[in-house]
Order: sequence, then C-alpha cells, then structure tokens
Amino acid sequence: MNFAIVGAGFSGAVIARELAEAGHKVTIFESRNHIAGNCHTERDAESDVMLHVYGPHIFHTDNEEVWKYVNQYSAFMPYVNRVKAVTGNRVFSLPINLLTINQFFNKTLSPNEAKEFIAQKGDSSITNPETFEEQALAFLGEELYEGFFKYYTIKQWGMSPAELPASILKRLPVRFNYDDNYFSHKYQGMPEHGYTVLVKNILDHDNITVHLNTEFNKSQAVEYDHVFYSGTLDGYFNYEFGRLPYRTLDFIKENHEGDYQGCAVMNYCDNSKPFTRITEHKYFSPWENHEKTVIYKEYSRECEPEDIPYYPIRQVKEKELLQKYVERANQEKGITFVGRLGTYRYLDMDVTIAEALKVARQFIQLTNEKKEI
Ligand code: UDP
Repeated sequence: MNFAIVGAGFSGAVIARELAEAGHKVTIFESRNHIAGNCHTERDAESDVMLHVYGPHIFHTDNEEVWKYVNQYSAFMPYVNRVKAVTGNRVFSLPINLLTINQFFNKTLSPNEAKEFIAQKGDSSITNPETFEEQALAFLGEELYEGFFKYYTIKQWGMSPAELPASILKRLPVRFNYDDNYFSHKYQGMPEHGYTVLVKNILDHDNITVHLNTEFNKSQAVEYDHVFYSGTLDGYFNYEFGRLPYRTLDFIKENHEGDYQGCAVMNYCDNSKPFTRITEHKYFSPWENHEKTVIYKEYSRECEPEDIPYYPIRQVKEKELLQKYVERANQEKGITFVGRLGTYRYLDMDVTIAEALKVARQFIQLTNEKKEI
C-alpha cells in the first residue's frame, strides 16, 4: 500500500519506518528544511557545538522497548540532567532536593527532619489542591513556591499559577535526599551525533521518500491509501472553530569564548530576568571538548499564527475547543492524527515514540486482517 505522512518528527519517522518494514511505500511531506521536528540538532558553524536548535531535548524513559528502539538507530551517550536555579541572587540545585532545602533555609537537616520541616511549611488548610498554586502552597509552603515556582511559571505560561492545573507542578519531584538528577527514569542519555542523525537513521529505508520544504495539500490525500498527520490538528481543518492556543519560545543565541555558566541548564526562577532559563549547549554533549561555547536565552510568549507552536495550553476552554476538533477529526476518513501537534498534548519524546509504534502496529495488523477477509 501507499501512505502519506505529514511531518518528519519522531511521530512521522517512527510510523514511516514501521510501515516501510511491513513492505509499504511511504512518502513524507515536511514543510521545514530539515527532519526531526523540534528535536532538530545541528552543529554551530563557529564553535562546532551541537545545538538543540528548538531548545533542549533530553532523552529519558522507563520504557524498555522505546529505549531499545532508539538505541537501534543511534548510540546513546551517558547524560544526566542536573539543573541549576538562580533565585534571590543565589544559585541552587533543582529539582528541589535536600541540598536546595538546606541551602535555601540555611539549615543542616537530615532527610526526616527536612520532611517534617517542609510539612510544617505547607498550608494544611488546602486539602484538595486543584491549581498549580494550591499544590505548591499545600506541599512546599510560600517561601519555596515564591522562590522557585511562582515567577518562573508566570514567565513560562504567561498566567498566574492560580489559573494553571496542579498537574503541571506534578511533573517535578521534590526529594528529601541529595539526588539532583532532574529525571527519575531508568534510562537517560543523548544520541551521540544528535537527534537529527537519529531520525535520519530511522528514515533510512528504501520504501521511504522524504520531501523537505513541502507542504501537504489536503487534495493530495486521494492519492494515498491512508494519511498519518502530525501537523497541527486545527491547522488541518483550516482553524474553522478558531485556533488552539500554544506557547512559543524565542531563543536569543550568543557565542562566547570558554565557558559561560558551567552547566547545561540554569533556570531563572525569580523575576530579576525576563527569560526563563539559559541553556549552554556544549554541556548537552559532555563527552565532547569545545573551546568556544554557545548559549540560548529562552523566552516564552503567546504563539502567533506565524510562530512555531511548543506548549499546548489545555485549560478548560482550550479543551472544549479541542473536543470540537476531535469530533471533526473522527468524521474524517482515511487519516490518523498523531503526535504532539496532531493530538494537542504536551508529549515527551519517549511517549511520542511509544504512541507512534502503537498506532503503526495496530494499523498494520488491521490491514493484514482485512487482507485475510
Ligand atoms: N517550573 C518552575 N520552576 C522551575 C522549573 C519548572 O516553576 O525552575 C514549573 C513551570 O511551570 C514548568 C513546570 O514547572 O512549566 C514543569 O517543569 P518542566 O521542567 O517539566 O518543564 P519543561 O521545561 O519540560 O517544559
């Protein structure tokens, strides 16, 4: 059979590979001039540092199958994300751990003492926290909330944490030991030659053709047995019910000699700076040596039509709008919407890959069953 895939990010590439392996022909339409979507990496011309062009991507997962899958297409190098945070003119360790607590409060607490200390700081009158702010105040108390979460979140989301769901904060652990690994997953690493090489290797199959700088036109769908669409869901329907809102990011790139900040990620958690964080990209490839360095100052703002969408907002009214598009999409024949943009969800890379494998395998099984009938 003959399939069209829109978008050459992880969703599109993984589905393409599964279909190609099953003997089908796949044509990929990618509107940008490169593959790998927002995971795209390339070497900086001046410093040779591997740049995470659309912001940092750190591969971390508990999913053994996904870990094995990506390792088939690239060697992974050891990388542990250890984030630092500036607040009140001091530097701390994130996620909040025993070092953060002891330094922030000028204490030498043991794990049990810290648990008790933080429990006392928490607001016990909040019994059922629903918003980000309630969640933070209930479990951490005002000082840590103001120091690390309030202003960062206002910069990141453009709204008060009192308007955001508690689920956003639940992404971050609080640890009562000195573990400063940002992620708690079993596997973590970086593809040795960057994500674009990894995706290129996934796409390297005789049955796959990739067209860069090429928009997919809806009228082309009739030429294919099925379309897998990883572009924006609302965009496919010409925004007929209005736009699904996103946050976008601006990266202000600077080249410097030597080292700039001494770590990969430094969050700016108070409101002394307008950016959310500074990333220093050579630290994403700690096995390489570079004399020069490149940093990105990261700013978050509302996504305008011409911008690249990053974070879906998914508040109550956005979810209602999404529901309309989902119902509209369900009526459409011969197309499956996939990935972060196609399903309007904030997806980590491993989840994106796991879902793409599932979608492709189910589809292949279904077409095989139909053939047998
Ligand atoms: N967050 C914060 N301070 C920080 C880091 C994160 O307030 O120093 C909040 C912020 O609202 C962010 C959320 O926690 O959107 C989740 O953080 P995570 O690091 O998972 O965000 P990502 O960078 O993956 O979007």
